[in-house]
Amino acid sequence: MTPLTEITADELVAAQYFHGHKCPAMPQGLRAGHLAMDLLAVSRSRGGRDLQAVVEIGDHHFSGCFADGVQFATGCTYGKGNITQRALGKFAVTLIHPPTERAIRVTLKYERMQACLQLPFFEQRKQGIPPDALDPSVVNPLIEDVVNHPWEDLFDVQRFAQYPVETPRESFDAVQCSSCKEMVVLPYARHLDGQFYCLVCFQSIVSRANNQA
Ligand SMILES: [Zn+2]
Ligand SMILES: [Zn+2]
Repeated sequence: MTPLTEITADELVAAQYFHGHKCPAMPQGLRAGHLAMDLLAVSRSRGGRDLQAVVEIGDHHFSGCFADGVQFATGCTYGKGNITQRALGKFAVTLIHPPTERAIRVTLKYERMQACLQLPFFEQRKQGIPPDALDPSVVNPLIEDVVNHPWEDLFDVQRFAQYPVETPRESFDAVQCSSCKEMVVLPYARHLDGQFYCLVCFQSIVSRANNQA
C-alpha cells in the first residue's frame, strides 16, 4: 500500500510558525518524517523512547531547515533527546523504532535537489536574501510542490530490519557546584577533594593549579 504522507494545511501552518518562515526545505523534512512514520506504521513520538531520529544535515548550509520539519512531524525533538545530528551535509533522516529495532532512512533524490538549486528561490538565497524576505510567489509554488507531489519522485527509501539502538538511561540526580552554586546533573559533575563542581568551575580550578605548578 502506498503511504499517504499527508500534510494537512493546519499542520503546515503550525510547522511554519514553529520554524519561523516559509521555505521548501522545512516541508521536505515534514514530509520525509511522515513518510518514515507511515512506512514504519508508527505514530508521532510522545515520551521520547518510542522513536529516535538521526538527521544528516550539517551546519550552515542550504536546506538545513529540513531538520525542523523532521522534528515537527515525528515529535523527535532536541528537548526529549531523541533526535541527533550526524553532520554529513546530506539531506536524509533515519527514523528508528526502538521497540522493534526497525528503521527507515529517507533521502531526498539527487536529481530533484539539483533541479531545485537552479530555481529563483535558491538564486536569491545565494545572493544573501534571507528566506523571510523573499517574494511569496517565488516560495509558495515550491512549498506546494513539496507537499503534494507523489513522494516516490521526491525521496529514496532504505529499510532496516534490525537497526542498532542505544537507549541511555535518564538521570534524575543533580548536585550543587561548590564554586558557582548552580545545579548540575550528576553525570556532568566532577568530584574533587570531597566537593562537586560543574565542568566549567572544575576546569578553571585544574588550569589554575597547572599554572601554579
Ligand atoms: Zn526554512
Ligand atoms: Zn560551577
